[in-house]
Amino acid sequence: MNYSATAMEAVAQPQPHVAMFAATGKGHLFPLIELARKLLRCQSFAVTVIIPDDGSSLEPQKDLLRTVPGTNLALLPPVSLDDIPPTAPIEIPIILSVTRSIPALRRVLADLQSSVHLTAFIADVFGVHAFPMVKELGIQIYLFQPSPAMMMSLVLHLPQLDQSCTCQFRDLPEPVKLPGCVPVNGSDLFDPIQDRQSEVYKSVLEMFGHFKEADGVLINSFPAMEEDTFKALEEACESGGFPPVYPIGPVIRSGSENCNSKEECLKWLDEQPDRSVLFVSFGSGGTLSSLQMKELAAGLEGSGQRFLLVARRPNDLVRTGAYFSGKGEMDPGVYFPASFMEKVKAGKGFVVTNWVPQVEVLRHAAVGGFLTHCGWNSALESVVHGGVPLIAWPLFAEQKMNAVLLSEGLRVAVRVREGEDGVVDGDQIAKLVRKVVEGAEGAELRRRARELKEAAGAAMGEDGSCNKAVADLARKVSGKK
Ligand code: UDP
Repeated sequence: MNYSATAMEAVAQPQPHVAMFAATGKGHLFPLIELARKLLRCQSFAVTVIIPDDGSSLEPQKDLLRTVPGTNLALLPPVSLDDIPPTAPIEIPIILSVTRSIPALRRVLADLQSSVHLTAFIADVFGVHAFPMVKELGIQIYLFQPSPAMMMSLVLHLPQLDQSCTCQFRDLPEPVKLPGCVPVNGSDLFDPIQDRQSEVYKSVLEMFGHFKEADGVLINSFPAMEEDTFKALEEACESGGFPPVYPIGPVIRSGSENCNSKEECLKWLDEQPDRSVLFVSFGSGGTLSSLQMKELAAGLEGSGQRFLLVARRPNDLVRTGAYFSGKGEMDPGVYFPASFMEKVKAGKGFVVTNWVPQVEVLRHAAVGGFLTHCGWNSALESVVHGGVPLIAWPLFAEQKMNAVLLSEGLRVAVRVREGEDGVVDGDQIAKLVRKVVEGAEGAELRRRARELKEAAGAAMGEDGSCNKAVADLARKVSGKK
């Protein structure tokens, strides 16, 4: 039989294989898995998702991976973090769990190289510490940035800011003008750079320095949302100062996993009038103090509006057996006033103590506003599935920057302001809730949120920026031009 050379090559071409490394938490893994799903739709790939073992249950991650045929899970052996004092900032154990896992990660990648056609390594931000090792193996590297393009502008600008500024950023007299971004007060910049004398600050500078080693940076945002910022990043790329940027967002879940509260909470929403409920959630792990929880309850109660609240144990209450309900969670009656719990009993509000199906909640017609900690996944889910006005209550990481973008940049949010004691008082909360759910300003925020939702829909459409960027990436990681 006579085959042409091209046909023979086509037959012999092995299936490209991509390794994805998610260093931490569901907030990073969920969008990475969604990206895998999108890549797999573009081309015939195989994907191995590699996760360091931090001792937590990986069942939700495994369940999610089962829904994406063509993906395998490689769990790295646990590393000891016993030497890290409990007072160490959260970033330290994450960074050390990555750096201490590098030898094991190298073995997994080398094994893949010897058994499959491994073409690319895609890692979340903490994975950058592995970049020098991955470069040695000769594998293409892509960095997945699960936050807005604005954050990448900070990455680019921080060395210059570090050189030119002698004080703490929060003491700068003027807002910082990151290229292409709405001005940000120094105190709103990324949390881990707030103490410039700290070890974490040095680690962040080092970490940001690794970004340039990537062959491409995948940003979970879209140009219609951050047009000028994407332009500034493109210019930096053209001048050779930054890797090519792929605006792959919004990469978000289209539905939530099952959870205990799912049926009950959606049923309660079904019974509420359209656009009447404020959804309140601080992400997968955000918590407040008991004093702040009381003020939140007073604010929700005082607003007279309906609410669906995800309430976690206040971060200053010790776990003791007596406080816990049958499901092992703290009974909210312990930290919320009786009058508030009465309102809940009367059906005016609904309190969930662990997890809600957030995507379905945001999509529900009864939801009229979202009080959010501004985690980037929540922000994107709200833009895509909700199109509702937001109350921005940022807690940590880059959430204050996200809040600035959502409130001052995109004007789809109003922001809470902490008092000098660091607490947001109930009166302010009540006013903001009323403003967002029923006021004229809320209507204007809602109009812009709807516009943004349409823009997100266009970005996710067949010819949209998201699909183009993912298709471009799929070509690159499959070894094509
Ligand atoms: N989430 C959820 N139910 C909850 C809390 C969170 O489904 O009760 C999901 C939410 O939809 C989002 C993710 O968890 O996809 C939280 O990510 P985000 O970036 O908003 O915040 P983080 O948890 O990383 O602070």
